[in-house]
Amino acid sequence: MGCHELSWLGRLLLLMQLVDGVFSWGKYGHYAVCKIAEGYVSEDAMGTVRKLLPEWAKGELAAVCSWPDDIKWNYNWHWTSSLHYVDTPNSKCNYNYYRDCYDSSGHRNHCVTAAIFNYTNQLFSAYQGYNPRFNYNLTEALMFLAHYMADVHQPLHVGFIGDLGGTSVKVGWYRRKTNLHHVWDTLIIDTAVKTLYGSDLSAMIQAIQKNITDAWSNDRSSWESCIYNNTVCPNLYASESVRFACKFAYRNATPGTTLQDDYFLSRLPVVEKRLAQGGIRLAAVLNRLMPLQWLDDNQHEVA
Ligand SMILES: [Zn+2]
Repeated sequence: MGCHELSWLGRLLLLMQLVDGVFSWGKYGHYAVCKIAEGYVSEDAMGTVRKLLPEWAKGELAAVCSWPDDIKWNYNWHWTSSLHYVDTPNSKCNYNYYRDCYDSSGHRNHCVTAAIFNYTNQLFSAYQGYNPRFNYNLTEALMFLAHYMADVHQPLHVGFIGDLGGTSVKVGWYRRKTNLHHVWDTLIIDTAVKTLYGSDLSAMIQAIQKNITDAWSNDRSSWESCIYNNTVCPNLYASESVRFACKFAYRNATPGTTLQDDYFLSRLPVVEKRLAQGGIRLAAVLNRLMPLQWLDDNQHEVA
């Protein structure tokens, strides 16, 4: 292979890494959010969730929560790739739906908060007593909702447009080269699992669950509630995320910085709190959407 091909391949790999980094908590993050949610989904709602889950999930919500990342490169699903995040104008530490929710081609209502509203509405129309105007695929709606509820809690999924949510901010993570977005999607969690939790993700999830019942027990009901008793409030989650992005993610992480223990240990509590909030809120939304277990398309178990 000549130099030309090598540099072309190198650029492609770099681009794939860049683009991949834009989109999502890593698999651990999504699994953790959905595992935490499973502990707070009511029996009735979980009964409905299990009926919607595809067979390959084997009744486990957490098994499907990375699915939107797995399919986004497929041509048929490419339109979903802008639904994993929302960007704010450079250096703006606030979020505004009407200002910020559009994709790179300028299509409005193509962003993570719009996707959360959309899939919540699809499930709402099916389970809240009126016939949906469209024949929605509710299995897909559930899998997208569970995924995007997690994404919107990753602070750099609501980052600045100029650096693609930290993706073009090149930093070091201990001895490796990476970008700031990937640090928040994956590396903080991976490093914590490896160095603090004996390479056992479930030990990290248990530690977060313990915090929910101990240190954060007074916060849980405020995390669950939405203004005006709305079913879901993604604009709030996005506003929190961009504030965390400014206060914790971008701070002391300018291009070329090598991030090590100081950064890792001070940001890990933020990551763990966002995973907890994502899980608690996903459960709350499912409980509000599916208060009664549905036997089939039209009949309640409880008449
Ligand atoms: Zn995602």
